[in-house]
Amino acid sequence: MEQKNEVLEGVLAEFAKLAAIPRKSGHEQAVSDFLKDYLQQMGLQVTQDEKNNIIADKAACPGFEQAPLTILQGHMDMVCVAAEGVKFDPLQDAIKLVREEKFLRAEGTSLGADDGIGVAEAIYILKNAKDHGPLRLIVTVDEEQGMTGAIHLDARHLQDAKFLINCDSENYDELTVGSAGSVNLDFSREIKWVKSELSAGWQIEVKGLLGGHSGERIGDGRGNAIRTLAMTLAALANAGEVTLASFSGGKARNAIPDDARMIIATDMDKEILEKVLQEQQERFCKMYGSVDPNVQFVLTSVETPQQVMTAGDMVRLVRLLTILHTGVFAMSTVIPGLVETSANLGVVETTNTEIKIQYFPRSAVDQKLDEFRFMAEEWGMLTGFTAHIGTQSPGWKENKDSKLAKIMAETFKKQNGKAMKVETIHAGLECGWHFRKNPELDMVSIGVTTLDIHSPKERLLLETVKPQVDLIVETLHEIAKA
Ligand SMILES: [Zn+2]
Repeated sequence: MEQKNEVLEGVLAEFAKLAAIPRKSGHEQAVSDFLKDYLQQMGLQVTQDEKNNIIADKAACPGFEQAPLTILQGHMDMVCVAAEGVKFDPLQDAIKLVREEKFLRAEGTSLGADDGIGVAEAIYILKNAKDHGPLRLIVTVDEEQGMTGAIHLDARHLQDAKFLINCDSENYDELTVGSAGSVNLDFSREIKWVKSELSAGWQIEVKGLLGGHSGERIGDGRGNAIRTLAMTLAALANAGEVTLASFSGGKARNAIPDDARMIIATDMDKEILEKVLQEQQERFCKMYGSVDPNVQFVLTSVETPQQVMTAGDMVRLVRLLTILHTGVFAMSTVIPGLVETSANLGVVETTNTEIKIQYFPRSAVDQKLDEFRFMAEEWGMLTGFTAHIGTQSPGWKENKDSKLAKIMAETFKKQNGKAMKVETIHAGLECGWHFRKNPELDMVSIGVTTLDIHSPKERLLLETVKPQVDLIVETLHEIAKA
């Protein structure tokens, strides 16, 4: 019992240091400088690259100099979100930690255990572990937003190593051995505004959907608020004359949109509008009701819009939003139950000058992503939108002969008396970029159990911290012995 507390308290003390420093993605200067100084004080050989990634080397313990170099890796940035009504400036404010019996959480904001706890654990291990070979800690920037840290990490930091343990997963008893690639696809079209000829303005909002992370939840068959609203607009245009003043929805490319809204002008009576929405709601419930039962279609009278899109722009928008399939494209033919290829219609926004759409395909097969790039150009051409082909993140292909996965799974079983779940995931990990730079690198991804990450409810299951540290320490020992 005593020893349990020691490890947990030690890791949480490291985590508290990170929580005190604002570290929203894209704003990592302060935390990167802190890590540089702190790891240097610990006697490590530290490099801070031009992106602010931190690479820190620790020599082998005496007698283990011949062991292969092993990397521990995490990211220093975090998703900063606050609950409604909570005042929080992510560029200035520290995360306020709340310790409960079972969980650590934050007061009104995301906790940043993703991935602060992974980094804290690694630092704790570098301070305390004995009998290990040469170790390297790599802490990247901007994982949550663009993975620019991993993308620009110099390949030499990965090429002299044999093993890499990525500490950025969410269940202490899961061992991830492969991840999917993705490609950022955007569409845009300039809007021509005209004066509204129709008499009444209405806002229609589709809300109450479950949403969720597209890499984790796309296979659940949930509804998509943007797609649903586009179908509603099509149905309204079928029922009578409608013009469109704005259309927006979704929060991020990789989040299934749970909310979307539009402002229309029309001469149709309220009863007709309500009838159309009622039909759309019934249609939605037949398709998604069993998994996504709380959808609401909300009709609100608003001021008549001054300007609306031309009929041509509106038709093109509906056409593109209904062509872009959102959801699962294919299931894996190799791993039962795993989504192989999917796409998420993530964000739509109307600005003063244009309509912009973010679409996010993922696949375990890089060639399928190449096909999406091709299709995007075609879809754009067909609908009068410009396709913008963005960064393509590589997948991390599962290595059936991974020594590291074998050592870790066996160690976990010995320590916990149960088997670790070994899995390939449909989400993306920085490991995809590491894999591209060194396909020989033997990698796994693990993590302390965290719940509701990227939300103000994010919390960390305290009892999983020590088992996780023990697993890494013993794995390092096994590597050093062999
Ligand atoms: Zn993370």
